[in-house]
Amino acid sequence: MTTARTVTLPSGATVPALGQGTWRIGEDPARREGELTALRHGLDLGMTLIDTAEMYGSGGAEELVGEAVRGRRDEVFLVSKVLPWHADARGTVDACHASQRRLGTDHIDLYLLHWRGEVPLAETVEAFEGLVEEGSIGSWGVSNLDTGDLAELPAHARVQTDQVLYNLVRRGPEYDLFPRCRELAVPLMAYSPVEQGRLLRHEALRAVAAAHGATPAQVALAWVLRHDDVIAIPKASSAEHVAENHTALSLRLTEDDLRVLDEAFPPPTEKQPLDIL
Ligand code: NDP
Repeated sequence: MTTARTVTLPSGATVPALGQGTWRIGEDPARREGELTALRHGLDLGMTLIDTAEMYGSGGAEELVGEAVRGRRDEVFLVSKVLPWHADARGTVDACHASQRRLGTDHIDLYLLHWRGEVPLAETVEAFEGLVEEGSIGSWGVSNLDTGDLAELPAHARVQTDQVLYNLVRRGPEYDLFPRCRELAVPLMAYSPVEQGRLLRHEALRAVAAAHGATPAQVALAWVLRHDDVIAIPKASSAEHVAENHTALSLRLTEDDLRVLDEAFPPPTEKQPLDIL
């Protein structure tokens, strides 16, 4: 029996703690049907936050997401991202409208700056605020911004999340990014929560999984989701993987499990620059 877990954003919007990623989806016609089935199965299970980006498959992922949510748009909290070299005053608006066309919607729930580029953050934020005003997006946030970058956001900025690389082998954010985001009451969105599959062969993870009759992917996700204010967005292109990941919501790691995992994947003891994939 799995439980619905949610995270509340600063806007008051409540989103599922476990969503679905879409990088490298929508790139191969031969895999399309399987990917659509996987995303829709995730929606059926309540994984109704879908993360995508104009970058993924050069728009192909957004098109596939649009098809997956057709007829059930109201169930879904759609997150997309603008590329840094589009993120100036005019380019942000154009990119957002292009994403909307591919997604088949006139409203993106949460729109993120994919990573920081040359455009001043204040210019992107102003463009985001304009998009909120015109109703094209519900709210906005950032991705791959470290503490120093967050400090440069305008004081009034209504940032909803920082989407960053966070998993057992990428614990750097625990040192100061997590604490800072908690001070700001901004939840983190953890991308690549199973390290794109590379994590799953790790012996300590397998041992903890075996003790629970669970899989390494479920333990890796349960570990990320042990925080109440973290959203995880694993990507899975089969309904089987989606179902397996969903079951992570009912897996409670014990103090002993966490100790074993801390030994195998030590927490940071000093500032580490934010990793990016
Ligand atoms: P993930 O850590 O989510 O790993 C995805 C890989 O893990 C896929 O190969 C998938 O295989 C496999 N996998 C998923 N579930 C299981 C399972 N239960 N058992 C075995 N293998 C599994 O990596 P991503 O990099 O895709 O990150 C997730 C999402 O985060 C992205 O899709 C994207 O939306 C976002 N992201 C954002 C970034 C940013 O800069 N803001 C950067 C990177 C990611 P299969 O497909 O065969 O199911």
